[in-house]
Amino acid sequence: MKFTQPRLPYAPDDLAPVISQTTIDYHYGKHEKAYIDTLNQLIENTPFEDMALEQIICNSEGKLFNNAAQAWNHIFYFFQFSPNGLKEPGGKLRAKIDETFGSFEEFKKKFEEAGATLFGSGWVWLSADSDGKLFITQGRNAENPLTTGLKPILTFDVWEHAYYLDYQNLRAQYLHRLWDIVDWDIIEVRYGE
Ligand code: MN
Repeated sequence: MKFTQPRLPYAPDDLAPVISQTTIDYHYGKHEKAYIDTLNQLIENTPFEDMALEQIICNSEGKLFNNAAQAWNHIFYFFQFSPNGLKEPGGKLRAKIDETFGSFEEFKKKFEEAGATLFGSGWVWLSADSDGKLFITQGRNAENPLTTGLKPILTFDVWEHAYYLDYQNLRAQYLHRLWDIVDWDIIEVRYGE
């Protein structure tokens, strides 16, 4: 087994009621695990076995790309939350958000809108380029901004499995509630504070 599923940095019921323990049990316990298990099977005895996960994502397609990117995306998603994290960004990330989107409130609105209007399954991303410029993008299915040279710093999963147990069809409500558990300390570090 080359890639192992990292343990969550919080208890399975710590994010409730925003994300329930039942959703964690399925989304982390079954979906994320399945992507990592399948990835390990697909790379066994191939040159991909010696690559970092990011390298696999940038050099694969089809089933391997889907499972590698979904493994990365889910690990990234679950590691940005905390029940008692920093509620708003500060420092140079905050300054860049204000400059790019007008305000933190406007940024959140645009990010939620991008997630709500993505048709089908996928991810909404906040990423930075090498100059620190910020971008909100939609990714279909397993798509990840790494393949376009951007550095992801925040993502919301908009596959139905991410929210259906807790919010049923109300994707916009799920997106809006996620801000309560995003730990901006982690996002600032990803941005490069
Ligand atoms: Mn998911």
